[in-house]
Amino acid sequence: MRRTKCLVIGAGPAGITAGIYLKRGGLDPIIIDKNAPGGQLLKTGDIENYPGFGVISGPELAINMLKGLDDLGVKPLYDEVISVTKNNEFIVKTKNDEIHAEHIIVCTGKEVGKLGLEDEDKLVGRGISYCATCDGFFYRDKITGVVGGGNSAVSEAIYLSNLCEKVYLFVRSDIKADNILVSRMKERENIIVLKGVTIKKINHDDTVTGVLLNNDEEVLLDGLFLAIGGKPNLSFLSDLNLDLDKGYIKVDKNMESNIPGLYAAGDVILKDFYQIITAANDGVVAALDIIEKEGD
Ligand SMILES: Cc1cc2nc3c(=O)[nH]c(=O)nc-3n(C[C@H](O)[C@H](O)[C@H](O)COP(=O)(O)OP(=O)(O)OC[C@H]3O[C@@H](n4cnc5c(N)ncnc54)[C@H](O)[C@@H]3O)c2cc1C
Repeated sequence: MRRTKCLVIGAGPAGITAGIYLKRGGLDPIIIDKNAPGGQLLKTGDIENYPGFGVISGPELAINMLKGLDDLGVKPLYDEVISVTKNNEFIVKTKNDEIHAEHIIVCTGKEVGKLGLEDEDKLVGRGISYCATCDGFFYRDKITGVVGGGNSAVSEAIYLSNLCEKVYLFVRSDIKADNILVSRMKERENIIVLKGVTIKKINHDDTVTGVLLNNDEEVLLDGLFLAIGGKPNLSFLSDLNLDLDKGYIKVDKNMESNIPGLYAAGDVILKDFYQIITAANDGVVAALDIIEKEGD
């Protein structure tokens, strides 16, 4: 059994940044990750929107971030958190251990929603993307498609319409986005909404060339953005009465949830923008709030 003032669960951009601030603030955090540390960065190609590096590959950025932790003598543990309960302190069961912590920062990210089609995984970064803010710039003046009918899909389509010649929105049934977003989308003449369609096949050579729809119509595309229900990794928190909204953890301005001492940062929380830099920001805010409370 281990004991710590602060346990950080997940070593992606949010968790690594929180770890750096906690350590430099005088706390000795434990950071734990079920995979190699780095989070989504390890699965990302070129990143062009993280300041300070120009263009950098995801894994390289992860190595740079981890060096910050390493230089402070913090080494993430390789283990998976299975459950969290709370008495006076948090009791965290992992696959191999039990950790007692006064504070927790949950930084476990989210799984992206997939279509489950042939070659989908191998085309990520070669025409398939899960993030218009991240990759839209690569499709300037090109033709793109967005799959989905919720707020994320409509927001992605609007974002892309500023860059692309034409944007198709492929919606399985009805659009479920907020009215304000739908009205904004309707003002964009280069967004074409196709309702009642699903994608049967992704056409490609080295990169995406188009899609085949369930009605056998073929649409030529340079890029396909998937916005179909990403899911935060939170199953290990099911014993707690945590306030969620749309499946994401609700936090206050200090990144603290409705459970005192349980903070969350990055892609697991409900927020408007899911980016590396916003994840890092959330990690900083959570860490500094914990440091401030420890000093009281
Ligand atoms: C393909 C792709 C490309 C992207 N490109 C960009 C880009 O160009 N620019 C940009 O700003 N953003 C980009 N993003 C978004 C960005 O990667 C995320 O917003 C960011 O990584 C979120 O950081 P995080 O720390 O919250 O979570 P993550 O990076 O997802 O890290 C979560 C970590 O938690 C660990 N974990 C999960 N469950 C457990 C558990 N039970 N126990 C222990 N550990 C656990 C995971 O193994 C993982 O390492 C991209 C995302 C994707 C998917």
